[in-house]
This record gives sequence, C-alpha cells and structure tokens, in this order.
Amino acid sequence: MSSISKRDSKYIWHPLVQHKHQKEMLAIKSAKGVVLTDESGNEYIDGISSWYTAVYGHCNSFITEKVQEQMQQLDQVVFSGFTHEPAVKLSEALMKILPDNQAKLFFSDNGSTATEIGIKMALQYHFNKGNKRNVLVAFEEGFHGDTFGAMSISGLSVYNGPFEEFFIDVKRIPVPNGENNQEVYDQLKSYIDQDNIAGFVFEPLVQGAAAMKMHDANRLDALIKLCKENEVITVADEVMTGFGKTGTYFASDHLTNKPDVICMSKALTAGLLPMAVTSCTQEIFNAFYDDDISKGLFHAHTYTANPLSCTAALAGIELLKSDEIQQNIKNIMTWHLEFGQKIAGHPKVKSIRQIGIIFALDLNVEMARYGNLRDKLYKFFMDNGVFLRPLGNTIYILAPYITTKQQMSKIYDVIERSFQIIE
Ligand SMILES: *Cc1c(COP(=O)(O)O)cnc(C)c1O
Repeated sequence: MSSISKRDSKYIWHPLVQHKHQKEMLAIKSAKGVVLTDESGNEYIDGISSWYTAVYGHCNSFITEKVQEQMQQLDQVVFSGFTHEPAVKLSEALMKILPDNQAKLFFSDNGSTATEIGIKMALQYHFNKGNKRNVLVAFEEGFHGDTFGAMSISGLSVYNGPFEEFFIDVKRIPVPNGENNQEVYDQLKSYIDQDNIAGFVFEPLVQGAAAMKMHDANRLDALIKLCKENEVITVADEVMTGFGKTGTYFASDHLTNKPDVICMSKALTAGLLPMAVTSCTQEIFNAFYDDDISKGLFHAHTYTANPLSCTAALAGIELLKSDEIQQNIKNIMTWHLEFGQKIAGHPKVKSIRQIGIIFALDLNVEMARYGNLRDKLYKFFMDNGVFLRPLGNTIYILAPYITTKQQMSKIYDVIERSFQIIE
C-alpha cells in the first residue's frame, strides 16, 4: 500500500488549497497532548492548537472517556421537538461562564453557521419588529467564515471574487487603531443615521485571519455603546477568541458594553468534535416569541446539539474552569511576555503584540499571504518539529494551554532561529 499522502491525492479536494501548487498533503497519524505525529514518525508541536481548537491537548483522556461513555447511551437524535441531558447540562455550564446579559443558546455545527445564525438573529429581530433594517456593519479585514452570510460580512475577501455580487449589503468601518478612533466612531454613526443598519458584526479584540491583529477593548466598547443606543444588534464573533484565548473566558469579558449576540465554536468542543453555539439576550429571543409561527427562527442543521459534541464541550468547560488550566494560561502569558521582551529589539522584528495566550510578531519584510518566503518559513518550522502557520509576514503562536515551558521554549527557539533565513 502506498503512503496515505499518495492515496489522498487521488480523490480528495482539500480546503484552502490550490492543488496545482500543492501536490501532496502531510498525513498525520496520531496526536497526543501538544504533539502531532506524521506517517513517517516525525513529531511536531501543535503551535496553533489545530486552528484554535485543541486547547486542552489532543486526545485528552478526561474528555475522550466522557464521550466514549456518552456514545453508548445516546449518540444522535433530532433536536427539533426533542432535547437531552448533555445539551441541557451544557447550556447550564455555558450560562455560568458567558457574560451576564446572555440568556438563550442556539446550537449549530461550525463557526460559519454560528455567525450565519448571528446575522439571521440581527436581521430577523428587526424584520419581526417591522423595522426596515437590512444592512450590516462589519470591520474591514474581519473574517467570519465561508458560507454566504459569513463571507458577506468578512472583509478579507481576496478569495470571494466569484461570489461578491450575491452578498448581503454590508458597510465597512476600519478597526479603531488609536489614531483613527474618532473617524471610525463618526463613520459608524453616519451609517447608523441612515436608519437601515440592523447589526454590527465583529471579532472582539483579535482578528484572527487578518493575522492576529489586535485592538483595545475601550475603543470597541465605544462602538458597541453607540450601537446599543440605536437598537443596532451587536454580534461578537468569538469563534476564535472564546474559551480562554484572551486570558478571560471570552474576549467580551474585557468589554463594559456586552454584545447582544455571541458566536462560539472552535475550542467550544476542545478540538474533539464539530459544534457551534450562538447565544443571545432575552430581548432578542423575545422578538421571535410570538403567536405567529413565522416569527420563530426557522433554521436547523441535522446534527444540531449532537449529544457527543455536547459532552465534549461540557468536559472542555470543566477543564477550562479548573485551577490547573487557569494557572497554565497565566504561565503562558508570562512566558510570551518574556519572549517578546527578548526579541523586541531584533532587526528582523517590526512589531510584537500579545493578549492572553495569543502571541504575534510582524517581520520586517514584505511578504505575500501565501508567497514563497511564507512557505520557506513554514517549512523551516516543520523541519524543526514545530507546526506554525505564518500569515504573510506575521508569525503567531496559539499553543494549547497544556504546553509545558520546555515545549514553548522550543517554539520560541525555532522562531528566533527562523529570523536568520529571511532576507
Ligand atoms: C474559524 C472562524 C470562523 C469560521 O469557523 P468554521 O468552523 O471554520 O466555519 C468564523 N469566525 C472566526 C472568527 C473564525 O476564526
């Protein structure tokens, strides 16, 4: 039998890949803790928690044992008209860690659908109330997923060319960066004054796909406040930032004005199974609660609130709240700070930013998002046993919370050595 990689290329079409450029995928055979092992036996530290999901480590037995037990009891059932213990328990656990203004949870199965549902909540909230509001506001360079609504609000649209003419009407504002705060505020205000803005969708504090760009909580707070004063539904896409990444349970915890809607996925299920939740305030739910059947939210996915996914999520939240994980998060924040101080003056380093366990640096070179230099860096990291995905000239770390000091030092060391290979 030829290698998994060879067999893969016969039938499989991969995501985010131009197959003419990339002929073979690396086959990963197993994953345990922070280590991925490929089919030749090479090991890699998972420096991005497999796209921000496996934050408690891969194949975490605390989680897998609970899911194994659950799968003997109830595997999958329709969630329209039925309910089950794992979903109810998860709802109770989520409510304890979500901001206080959140009151209802809507389940789906990935990050794009989580934001899609957030968009629908915002649009239908106004529709149900008879308000003529059908335009959304979003940040430039935001990323919210790859389905049509999510693509529409995503500002990073380099790959959306064929679809743009089908998009929802979205007005864009820049992210407030300190210098443009007033302009951004005024621009949002002028859009709102046109009277047709239904909602404002944003990644709070960190824009992941835009290469871990960060903004201050108080600047976002001012925008949310303006929205609230004008009945514009605020939708925080916490698909990436949720569950401890920014040092708090949610990025919204850094805000004074809490968003009306919060989208969750990725680390929600600890990297084990796909699932998403969109939470909202009682006020939003009330706008759908009516004698008129058509005012309900008629949206469903077959695997909504899958009991196994709920069980994984519940176990993940238990870990997140544990003293051990909370201490690990603090430790990683300190290590990142020290590493940042160490490399700050390096001639190849243009800037450094950090929030919680997310660390990012920009290199002092211009690089295409998927260009040769970026590929060279990626290969250097992999050859040295560390899985990182540089985005253009940004190198970032989002390693699992269980990463040891020694493992993190290895990531730092490989990054430092990579400065030598760039011109
Ligand atoms: C990954 C991501 C999404 C999309 O989630 P999928 O599960 O890949 O559909 C949406 N928003 C943000 C902020 C993300 O990071």
